[in-house]
Amino acid sequence: MSQDPGRFISDTLLCESSDPTLLLQHLIRLQAEYSYISDQAISLLASELDIPLSEVRSVIDFYSFLHFKPRGHYDILFSDSITDHMLGSRELFDYLCGRLGVTDGETREDGRVTVGMTSCTGMCEQGPALLVNSLAINHLNTPRIEQIARLIEDNINVTDWPEELFHIEDNIRKKDILLSSFESTSDTSSILGKLLSYPAEDVLNTLQDTKLRGRGGAGFMTAIKWRSCAETPATQRVVICNADEGEPGTFKDRVLLQSYADSLIDGMTLCASVINATQGFIYLRGEYLYLLDHLEGILQERRERNLLGTNINGQARFNFDIQVHLGAGAYICGEESALIESLEGKRGIPRVRPPFPVSSGYLGLPTVVNNVETFIAAAKIMLNDADWFCSQGTSDSTGTKLLSVSGDCQHPGVYEYPFGTTIQQILSDCGAENTQAVQVGGPAGQMISPEEFDRSIAYEDIATGGSFMIFNEQRDLLEVVFNFATFFVHESCGFCTPCRVGTSLIKKRMKKVLKQNATGDDIETMQTIGTLMRNTSHCGLGATAANPILDLINKFPDVYEERLRSTSFEPGFNLDKALEEARQLTHRDDPGAHLKNGGV
Ligand code: SF4
Repeated sequence: MSQDPGRFISDTLLCESSDPTLLLQHLIRLQAEYSYISDQAISLLASELDIPLSEVRSVIDFYSFLHFKPRGHYDILFSDSITDHMLGSRELFDYLCGRLGVTDGETREDGRVTVGMTSCTGMCEQGPALLVNSLAINHLNTPRIEQIARLIEDNINVTDWPEELFHIEDNIRKKDILLSSFESTSDTSSILGKLLSYPAEDVLNTLQDTKLRGRGGAGFMTAIKWRSCAETPATQRVVICNADEGEPGTFKDRVLLQSYADSLIDGMTLCASVINATQGFIYLRGEYLYLLDHLEGILQERRERNLLGTNINGQARFNFDIQVHLGAGAYICGEESALIESLEGKRGIPRVRPPFPVSSGYLGLPTVVNNVETFIAAAKIMLNDADWFCSQGTSDSTGTKLLSVSGDCQHPGVYEYPFGTTIQQILSDCGAENTQAVQVGGPAGQMISPEEFDRSIAYEDIATGGSFMIFNEQRDLLEVVFNFATFFVHESCGFCTPCRVGTSLIKKRMKKVLKQNATGDDIETMQTIGTLMRNTSHCGLGATAANPILDLINKFPDVYEERLRSTSFEPGFNLDKALEEARQLTHRDDPGAHLKNGGV
């Protein structure tokens, strides 16, 4: 560890660049180096980058992986995803806390260790999982936790921990046209040469013919997005890959980044050649830190082979390069305008739109933002043809979709399916039995009941970014939805009132239901709040945060009703219980000393 943050900032961070857009990246490195961001570091960064002190502090405050107070030398975060809970993460968390003598989120007195929880870490098919100093350890069980506790007490540096602890599997279970096409690829230089041989107009027309839509869930037409950006007058344009898949239950981009990164960079470079961009970014979620060196290595190799940089592949005046920027634990940064704010070094608060990024994105420049799967699909389409892509899927949803399948099934992992595949087919393939419900599209998606298992994955039916979580009949769906409600409280950026307040109010009501202390009035209130949030929130997070609660009310009414005390108004405050102390003091417990209904 550097002794003096001042020297680290001036000799390491600022000697590379004093560009204020790098504020977040500098803070992430300071956090990794010192386990917190000190007042001294904040002042120095503010003055050297010419950013108000209050803004630096607000950025630190915004991202859950940045801290004002020291974390432990070993900073451990368990995944709070519902699928990890189902695999026993809470018990393992308690066990490790007990073993190390710490409580949730508090750093041990000797400064050695902090153990806390974080939102989903993107390892749901190999959970329970945790991050130690931002590196993932999966398949947790008691012996593994015991091993981790010993390594910590023996003060072994994380870099010297056994490699097998950090092993991460791809778990690809089913390939269709997209993933199968990698088996016959030739070398990267000839692939890129072929991609860059097409005139921009041919690429746009082919993408339009295929009706390729963004694979992040919203499904915007890729050709329209690229064309709009290309047609916006500008001297510089930007390509951004959204690799911030933070939707609980999603992990397929992790696999693509690990095993198919060259193809992603092909897709980004193709896009750059079409829109005439010079600058590219991969915004990598902080939970995937282990992929950073891997991606940097591939980018460097491509620079050395003239597949990035100036006059790429011998093409005069085609100059384009890509940087990887890390996120720092904010789910909202998966929203494209929040992601752009974050890339500019700011808090990830979604922008007011329009203008859309294609006309005014990163630093006001026309910008294309697509996710990992979309860029790969675009590259593969141009390496094959439109017919190849359209041979799968439906007329409105062409091609295939990668799904991250987790929860109650025998074979969790990544599955590639043609659009139009039914929920039932997917459940059969992954070995799911006695399924009570499937949550498609993450907590903000749809909860699908058995009566709907003949519905299909498609933009015209059930659209999804890829998360597919399965719950069998043994699961308490209220616990599931409560977990989602907790997630949204944590991840609301706090910018607008309906979402900031609404998510908390819903969580409180859900807790009452779980404690069997709620009434029909609480259910009605949750519906009212959910509708209000849907209609008045600033961005999609708030607009969809009540979806799981409303779905459960509509599709699984029994789950609520069996927990309600009555269907009419009941008090939130139990006066009879509050009088217990008075009864004890007066030695009374006769019926006259009790209120009839327990409250007022
Ligand atoms: Fe932030 Fe929620 Fe408002 Fe979106 S809806 S801007 S996440 S507070």
